[in-house]
Amino acid sequence: MTLWNDTFGDQTVGSYIAGDIVEGTGAEVDLVDPATEQPLLAYRDGESGAVDQAVAAAEAAGSTWRGLTASERGRVLWAIGSAVRSNIDGLARLEAQIVGKPIKDAVAETTKVAEMFEYYAGWADKQHGDVIPVPTSHLTYTVREPYGVVAQMTPWNAPVFTAGWQLAPALAAGNTVVLKPSELTPLTSILLARIAEDAGLPKGAVNVIAGFGPTAGNRLVTHPGIAKVVFVGSPETGRLIAAAAGQNLKPCVLELGGKSANIVFDDGDLARSVGGAAGAIFSGAGQSCVAGSRLLVQEKVYGEVIERLSALASSLRQGSPLGVETQVGPIQNRTQLQQISTKVGAALSGGAQAVTGGSRVERPGFFYPPTIIDGVANSDPIAREEVFGPVVVAIPFDSEEEAIALANDTSFGLAGAVWTGSVGRAHRVAAQVRAGTVWVNSYKTINVMAPFGGFGDSGFGRSSGQDGLMEYTQAKAVWVETDDKAATPFGY
Ligand code: NAD
Repeated sequence: MTLWNDTFGDQTVGSYIAGDIVEGTGAEVDLVDPATEQPLLAYRDGESGAVDQAVAAAEAAGSTWRGLTASERGRVLWAIGSAVRSNIDGLARLEAQIVGKPIKDAVAETTKVAEMFEYYAGWADKQHGDVIPVPTSHLTYTVREPYGVVAQMTPWNAPVFTAGWQLAPALAAGNTVVLKPSELTPLTSILLARIAEDAGLPKGAVNVIAGFGPTAGNRLVTHPGIAKVVFVGSPETGRLIAAAAGQNLKPCVLELGGKSANIVFDDGDLARSVGGAAGAIFSGAGQSCVAGSRLLVQEKVYGEVIERLSALASSLRQGSPLGVETQVGPIQNRTQLQQISTKVGAALSGGAQAVTGGSRVERPGFFYPPTIIDGVANSDPIAREEVFGPVVVAIPFDSEEEAIALANDTSFGLAGAVWTGSVGRAHRVAAQVRAGTVWVNSYKTINVMAPFGGFGDSGFGRSSGQDGLMEYTQAKAVWVETDDKAATPFGY
C-alpha cells in the first residue's frame, strides 16, 4: 500500500470525488492479496450516496473542462500521459499486488495507459464536423458534441488499463466522467484520477466510485444525470446494464467476454504458432477477454502442437506477481478460482482429458495451473462458456472450411487468430471469422490506435482509435438559411 499512503496519507480507501476521498457508508469490502490469501485492506461501499455526489461533481466540472479550448484540453491530456509515464513503477506495483498480475505485464499495461492519453491528446483539437451539400439554400453543417457526464464501469482483470482506455477518449471529446471500477480493484483507478488532477485536469472531471455493482453500479447506470453508459465486463452483467440503460433510454457501449478461436494450420511455422497459442491463453493466467481459449489445430499437426504446447505450459514460471521472473500469476479472487475449478472439473467428469494441469495447485494463493483440455467437442460447455482462467480446449479440424465453421460456432465474437504460411489463406480466414479483432500469425497485439470491440455476445460499440472517440460524441446538425427571401413553411 506504499503508493496509496504516499499519495493519500493515512486516509481510508473510499470513492474519489472532486479531488477528495469520500468514505463509504455501506457494507464492508475486504480485499485479499491473491498471491497469499492474506487480507490487504477493507473499505466501505460508496453506495448511491457516493454516486449522487460524484455525478453532481462531474456536472459542475463539465463547464470548466469544456470552457478550455480544444487545444488546451489536448495539452492537459498530454500532461496526464507524461505524468502516468513518471508513475509507471508505482502504479504497476500496486496493480500487480491487487490484481495478482505479473509485474512485467502490469508495467506493460500501465505504459499503454500513458499511450492512451497521449494518443487522445492529439484528437482533442481534431474533431471536425462536416458541411452537408443539401439541395436547398441552407448552409448545413455538423458539430460533434460531448454527451456531458458519462458512466464507465470496468472489471477486475485489467483495472488501470481499462480505466485509461475509457477515460482518455471521454475527456478528449469534452465529457466528464464517473468511473466505477470493480469493487475488488479500485485503487489504481483512484490513483490515476489523482495523477490526472495533479497534471492539470479540473477536479471533478473524473470521479471514481469504490463500491459494489448492484448498489453503486446500478445507481450509476440509472442516475438521471448520466448521459451515456460504457461497460467493460462479463456478458451476464452486460445484459443487466443494457436492460437498465434501455429502460432509462441511455445509449450504451458493451465490451464483454469472449471464447476466441486460435486457428493453427499445418502450413505455418509451428514453433511460432505454439508460442503464440501459449501466450494467447496463459498470459494473464487466462484472465483476459481476448484469451485464445479455443485452440483449433489442423489434424496433421494436432499431436505435435499439443505435445509442444504442453511442454511449454509446464515450463511457465508461476509465482509471486512481484517477481520479475514470474510469467503466470494467481487468479485474482477466490470466487473466480472456484468457477474455473468447477468448469474444468465438470468437463473432466464428462469424459474430457487434461493433457496438463486440470486441478488447483496446492499452495497458498489463488493459483491455477496452465491447463490444456483434450477430447472435447465444440458443443461442450467448456468449449462454449468463458472460463476466464488459464484453460484452453484443443479441437482438431480437417479443412479450412471446417476451421472457419468451428471458429464461428460460438455466441461470442471478440477476437480470433489464424496461424498459416499462406498469405491467401490468412486473408480468406480473416475475412470469414466473425469477430471484432482477427490476428494473423500474431495474438493479443493491441494498440489504442486500432478499434476494438465485439460481435454477438461479446458486446457492441467500439473502443480505441477514432471509432472509440466517436462513441463519446454525438452529431448535431445546424441548418442556416442563406436566402433572406426564402419562403417559410406557411409561406409568410
Ligand atoms: P463483472 O461483469 O462482474 O463486473 C464488471 C463491472 O460491473 C464491475 O465494476 C462490477 O462492480 C460492475 N457491476 C456488477 N454488477 C453490476 C450491476 N448490477 N450494475 C452495475 N454494475 C455492476 O465482470 P468482472 O468479473 O469484473 O470481469 C470479467 C469479465 O470482463 C470477463 O467476462 C471479461 O471477458 C470481461 N472483460 C471484457 C473486456 C473487453 O474489452 N471486452 C476487457 C476486460 C474484461
